[in-house]
Amino acid sequence: MQDIKTCLNAMTVDVEDFFHVSAFDSIIKPEDWDQYQPRVDNNTRRLLDIFAKHNVKSTFFVLGWVAERYPELIKEIHRQGHEVASHGYAHRRASEQNEQEFIADVRRSKDHLQDLLGEEIIGYRAPSFSIGYTNEWAFAALKDLGFVYSSSTYPVKHDLYGTPDWPRFAYQRKEDITEIPIPTLKMWGKQVPIGGGGYFRLYPYALTRYLVKKYLEQEKQPYSFYFHPWEIDAEQPKLTNASAKSRFRHYINLKHTEGKLERLLQDFSWSTMRDVYGIST
Ligand SMILES: [Zn+2]
Repeated sequence: MQDIKTCLNAMTVDVEDFFHVSAFDSIIKPEDWDQYQPRVDNNTRRLLDIFAKHNVKSTFFVLGWVAERYPELIKEIHRQGHEVASHGYAHRRASEQNEQEFIADVRRSKDHLQDLLGEEIIGYRAPSFSIGYTNEWAFAALKDLGFVYSSSTYPVKHDLYGTPDWPRFAYQRKEDITEIPIPTLKMWGKQVPIGGGGYFRLYPYALTRYLVKKYLEQEKQPYSFYFHPWEIDAEQPKLTNASAKSRFRHYINLKHTEGKLERLLQDFSWSTMRDVYGIST
């Protein structure tokens, strides 16, 4: 059997703060974001240290709102050799915007990141994997904006997102853009979400390790993993007025995530989206 350590996988981080997440958007308005205690700068710097310790390069999908407030952080991510990509500006789901609003939001974040770093930004991830059946036009918009790849679809059934019958592996779309879906595993007659985030915090590490290994052996495709800086921050302010379901999803196992992440970095081999999927401008 092939040594699993020789498979190169993509490590990705969606750079946003705890008050940006979609699960809280019914209780926190964007105009109030500046009133919350910012955590994203410190948390992302902790991640940079963890990646440096394990000699791992990652793709950071940065929210434009964060980049405007923490330009030095974004420059530091870039300086350390990671890939900077876009997560849009204001963390609005693509599926809740019309085409003009979507283009304006994404362009604002792309232009800002490019001005900051002096290089082309070629990757995009929609908030909450919100490109799907109702807004397939978004791919043509991304192509027009100059993106080369997107990682904005999740082929699972979920209450907030999901395109269960769309491709499960990286593919070239008719709009001439590469889409890299979040990984799923075919098991028990279903497509099980194994991409990271809340599931990574929920599952014991041994289960994650088993699922990733099984994916690599079964599918022979690179695996990609996503999470957020607030997921290693057990000290973040608690939002008590969120729904029980949202609180469960957001706060479960925060204090164990950093340790699990270190094991994941050790047990598999990682690099950026560009590198793993051979994407060039
Ligand atoms: Zn996000």
